[in-house]
Amino acid sequence: MQIKDILQLSPESQSVVVKGWVRTKRGQANIVFINLNDGSTIKNIQAVVEDGKIGEETLKKISTGACIAVSGILVASSGSGQAVEVLAQTIEIYGTADETFPMQPKKHSLEFLREKAHLRFRTNTFGAIFRIRHALAFAVHKFYNDNGFFYLHTPIITASDAEGAGEMFRVSSFEPNAAPKNEDGSVDFSQDFFGRETSLTVSGQLEGELGAMALSKIYTFGPTFRAENSNTTRHLAEFWMIEPEVAFYELEDNMNLAESFVKYVIQYALDNCKDDLEFLQTRLLEEEKSKPQNERSEQTLLEKLSFVVENSFERLTYTEAIDILLKSKPAQKKQFQYEVGWGIDLQSEHERYLVEKHFKKPVILTNYPKDIKAFYMKQDADGKTVRAMDVLFPGIGEIIGGSQREDNYEKLMTRINEVGIDPENLWWYLDTRKFGSAPHSGFGLGFERLVLFVTGMGNIRDVIPFPRTPKNAEF
Ligand code: ATP
Ligand code: MN
Repeated sequence: MQIKDILQLSPESQSVVVKGWVRTKRGQANIVFINLNDGSTIKNIQAVVEDGKIGEETLKKISTGACIAVSGILVASSGSGQAVEVLAQTIEIYGTADETFPMQPKKHSLEFLREKAHLRFRTNTFGAIFRIRHALAFAVHKFYNDNGFFYLHTPIITASDAEGAGEMFRVSSFEPNAAPKNEDGSVDFSQDFFGRETSLTVSGQLEGELGAMALSKIYTFGPTFRAENSNTTRHLAEFWMIEPEVAFYELEDNMNLAESFVKYVIQYALDNCKDDLEFLQTRLLEEEKSKPQNERSEQTLLEKLSFVVENSFERLTYTEAIDILLKSKPAQKKQFQYEVGWGIDLQSEHERYLVEKHFKKPVILTNYPKDIKAFYMKQDADGKTVRAMDVLFPGIGEIIGGSQREDNYEKLMTRINEVGIDPENLWWYLDTRKFGSAPHSGFGLGFERLVLFVTGMGNIRDVIPFPRTPKNAEF
C-alpha cells in the first residue's frame, strides 16, 4: 500500500507492509524511530522498532537515503505529529545509503539541489513540486476533454522555421565534420535524413491550426524547444507548451477561454494538492523572513492562488497600457531600464509594473502593434495593430501569448511577403485559407510558467525535472 493510503486507515493492529526511502532514523536506548517516505504524499510514516525486535546488524545498515520494506502492525501513535505508526516486526533492506548520500536531513540551497537533480526528488520541496506539476498536467487534459477539445499530437521535428528563425535547434543525421557539400561550399541538406533542413519545433500552433480547421476544437500539449540564449529565471531551452486552437473563436472568445482555463487548473491544484501547497507556502514564508519588509509579498501562496481564481482578469489594449506606463512614476522618474513609447515590445519590467503595481491582478493585453507580433495574427481595421492577446501574471510576466489568426488569404500573403518569409515553405498552412477558411483563434501557455506560479518557486529550473538551459544538459 502507498503511504498516503495507509495514513488514512484507522489503526486496528492490522498487518501492513510499507516500502519507501528513509528520511531520518532516530535512536534511543531501547527504541528506534524511522521516518519513511514513498513519494505518494509529502507525509512520512513512522516505523517504530522496539528493543530486540529487529537484529542489530540490520538496524545498523539503515540510514538516511536507504530503501527498505517494513512489515508490522498499524497502531495509534503515542507521539505527536502523526495519528498512526507501524510497529515493525521485520525489515527488509533493498538498498543501503552511506553518509555520502547528498540529501541529508538539513537545509540545502536550491542551487545545490539543481546540481543533484537526479536525487532532489527525494526532498520534501521537490516531491511537492512534482506532485503539483502532475496534478496540473492532469487538470489540463481534464479541462480540455470536458470542454469538447481533442488532444492533437503535433510534430516535434519540423521543417518550417517560420516562427523561430535563428532560435531553433537543428535536427540532422549528418556527421558534423562529414556533411556533404554543394558546389558553393554550403551543406547539401538534400542528402540529409529528411532530404531538407529540419529543426525541433518552437510551437505546435501552425499544425494545430490545420487540425482546428476540421476538428473545430483541438489542443496540443508537448515539448517545444528554443535555442535562445536567455539565461533568465523564466526561460528554458526545452519547455512544455499547451496550445488550444479553436475554429469560430474570435479574440474575445479566446480571452474567455484563456481565463477560464487558467482558473480551472489553479482551482484543481487548490482542491487536490492541499498538503503540498501548504508545505510550499510555509517554505516561502521562511524564505521571506530573510528579505527586507518592503520586498515581502502581501499575500501567502494560497491567498495568491485563491485571489487569481476569484477575481476577473483586467483586460485592456496595448495602447491603453502604454498610456498608463507613460504616466507611471517609474517612467517619469526614469526608473525603467527600457524607455516606454508606442511601438515598443513590452519588457518584463513594464509587464510587472502593470500587473503588480498598477492593477494588482492578472492582466490581458490586446491589440499589439503588428510589427512586434507574428505574421499570422489577424490585422485590425486600423492597419496598425493585430488581434493579439498576452496574459500577464504577477511575479511571472507573460504566461500566455495568443491571438485571433488571419483567415483572409490575401492579407496573410501580403504579411508573409512583408516580413520576408518564403511562402513556398508554408504552402500547406496557406491552403487552409484557400479551402474553407474560418475565423479561428488560439494561444500558447508555457506549462512551466504555470507551475512556477502555482508552486510559488522563483526559478523555472526548479519546476521541471531536468532543466535544459544554456550550457546545461547534465542529466
Ligand atoms: P517571452 O517574451 O517571455 O520570451 P514569448 O513571447 O517568446 O515569451 P511565445 O512565443 O508567445 O512566448 O510562447 C508562448 C508561451 O510560452 C509564453 O507565454 C510563455 O509562457 C512560454 N514560453 C516562451 N518561451 C519560453 C521559454 N524559453 N521557456 C519557458 N516558457 C516559455
Ligand atoms: Mn521568447
